[in-house]
Amino acid sequence: MATAIITGAARGIGAAIAERLAKDGFDIALNDIAESCFENNDIVDRIKAQGVKCGVYAADVSKHEQCEEMVKKIKADFGSIDVLVNNAGITRDGLLARMSEENYDLVISVNQKSVFNMTKFAGAVMMKQRGGRIINLSSVAGVYGNAGQMNYSASKAAIIGMTKTTAKELGSRGITCNAVAPGFIDTPMTAQLSDEMKAAILGQIALKRYGRTEEIAGVVSFLASEDASYVTGQVIEISGGLSM
Ligand code: NAP
Repeated sequence: MATAIITGAARGIGAAIAERLAKDGFDIALNDIAESCFENNDIVDRIKAQGVKCGVYAADVSKHEQCEEMVKKIKADFGSIDVLVNNAGITRDGLLARMSEENYDLVISVNQKSVFNMTKFAGAVMMKQRGGRIINLSSVAGVYGNAGQMNYSASKAAIIGMTKTTAKELGSRGITCNAVAPGFIDTPMTAQLSDEMKAAILGQIALKRYGRTEEIAGVVSFLASEDASYVTGQVIEISGGLSM
């Protein structure tokens, strides 16, 4: 059985991706920053209901050593690592003049350094296996920029460069690496936005609605599937036509 790791998978887009990959037949290693993140939801039960193996691995993905340790444990428990979804992410929004250095550094380390950490360690396992799929969560903010998100858009733009670099470095070992760039998806992360900002965003979306987490999971499922075997180094925007 093939194994998928999804970071930041206790809720939101990560949980939807985990559930979809379980439906696709992958054994699932769920990561989030603490085991307690899984206490008040039924994601583990929903995954096990698909008849696949599921384990919870608490680690702060911005921390290099914690990622190394987690990847070792997952490899030992599951035997292989076939798909890595770098999903964990945070926002600490604010206009540039008011953004603290602490909030800049925090977002860069959780959103961007985590991709370096996890790709390095899970990628090493995939290289030995001579195959694997890596899927990174970027954002339209990384492609087009967004006022109030200097830190977040920097991290998400960097992920695009990292995706292309990974595709080039690991391609000869049969590993693909792609990114998805969601627009406005209904999750706890976007629930923090003001009503005024939500209304302004809605006005710009061609489909005139926010995205659903399952709509991100469907594209990730494709990128993890055999049908996407010749797709690498790409960024797929999933935004309902937000930025045409
Ligand atoms: P979310 O609901 O806030 O979920 C993110 C998850 O990541 C949470 O469970 C969070 O745990 C976890 N996490 C945070 N820091 C972590 C760390 N250091 N190590 C491990 N896990 C950590 O966010 P979402 O909306 O599902 O977003 C998922 C991804 O999609 C993010 O990368 C985000 O930037 C990207 N994205 C989202 C949207 C959108 O509209 N929602 C749009 C574009 C891109 P805690 O609960 O403890 O914080």
